[in-house]
Amino acid sequence: MDPFLRRDGILFAEDVSLEEVALCYGTPCYVYSRAALEGRFRAYQEALQGQKHLVCYAVKANGNLGVLDILCRMGAGFDVVSIGELERVLAVGAKAEKVIFTGTGKREDEMRRALEVGIRCFSVESESELYRLNAVAKSMGKKAPIALRINPDVNPQTHPYIATGLKDSKFGIPAARGLEAYRLARGMDFLEVVGMDCHIGSQLTELDAFGEALLRLKELLEALALEGIHLRMVDVGGGLGIRYRDEEPPSPDAHMSLLKSVFGVSSGYEMVVEPGRAIVGNAGVLLMRVEVLKQADALYFAVVDAGMNDLIRPALYEAWMDIVPVREREGVEARLWEVVGPICESTDFLGKGRRLALQEGDLLAVCSAGAYGFSMSSNYNTRPRAAEVVVDKGRHFLVRERESLPKLWEGEYRLP
Ligand SMILES: *Cc1c(COP(=O)(O)O)cnc(C)c1O
Repeated sequence: MDPFLRRDGILFAEDVSLEEVALCYGTPCYVYSRAALEGRFRAYQEALQGQKHLVCYAVKANGNLGVLDILCRMGAGFDVVSIGELERVLAVGAKAEKVIFTGTGKREDEMRRALEVGIRCFSVESESELYRLNAVAKSMGKKAPIALRINPDVNPQTHPYIATGLKDSKFGIPAARGLEAYRLARGMDFLEVVGMDCHIGSQLTELDAFGEALLRLKELLEALALEGIHLRMVDVGGGLGIRYRDEEPPSPDAHMSLLKSVFGVSSGYEMVVEPGRAIVGNAGVLLMRVEVLKQADALYFAVVDAGMNDLIRPALYEAWMDIVPVREREGVEARLWEVVGPICESTDFLGKGRRLALQEGDLLAVCSAGAYGFSMSSNYNTRPRAAEVVVDKGRHFLVRERESLPKLWEGEYRLP
């Protein structure tokens, strides 16, 4: 279901016109559809029905409290990568026992806080982290539940910046050292070895690499069982891609079917999956306004009021994201535009060579901007971060105010 459809030439989010949203909250502004979020989350839940499972939404894709709250009410678990993200999900009332903490560089204070609230599992990414976590748990008189994040060395055929399961990536423990690492963990008194984790990359549009990774995990699980190390949980990470342009990514159902076919419905393992982009990516757009139209030598530039500080994916990954007018223009000639932001960097573009009929003041929407949009935004050029709005059928709710200027230098001081 696409919640962003046109009515009489005007783009809507569910039953709310995006012109109305822009009027109410200004631009740039992220707009998310509740129905789309819920629909995607439900697809995972349903695909895993009948199987002991937990769908842990990856908070880093979009950590807005309004978004987290919607998912929390549906029974979501959460995958967090920092103490900040842990506090976010606790702030919407999520139960700590549904939280998984991943990340390559967890600090001791982060471990302590996570142990204190009683999270479900730490995903441990190195031998060194095993020692550190064991020591922290010991100092608190607690046992830390852990999974080891195994790096299966598969190439997911995605952008190199978002591939995480190659043998020279910084993530996880190489599969070849897995057995040894589990032996080490088993010998530690303040760790409880419960599972195995892997996450091979993001925006994956084919299942092959997922399948390969799952087979590696299965091999390792079998080798562990021979040594009497029996795990109860398998966490296969996130990474399922979405359609930005013409990709045809597998559905959550297809991804989960693969999981079930590798491990068997009756394997007894609790299946954990950590989708981020696949849940929220297509559920959001970035609304922006055309400020200036100008011509360089051979190129035409449309300078909009959103920049790489608001949405960095095009600049960082050369990601292609569709840009569409909120109101279809008549009587204006369409031509190819470089859609750029106002920031002092040549990488500050949102789209290149886009055929659009534009006038200054027009509203545009960047599609599929729900994931890694706001969450990667910054204040570069002392730009307040965008407002965020959730649409629910015919209603709209502000879920994050546009930042005010004084807030941007709050906590900064001049010398005495
Ligand atoms: C980023 C991340 C995810 C989510 O990735 P998506 O591609 O957004 O699904 C899941 N698990 C871990 C460990 C991650 O780092």
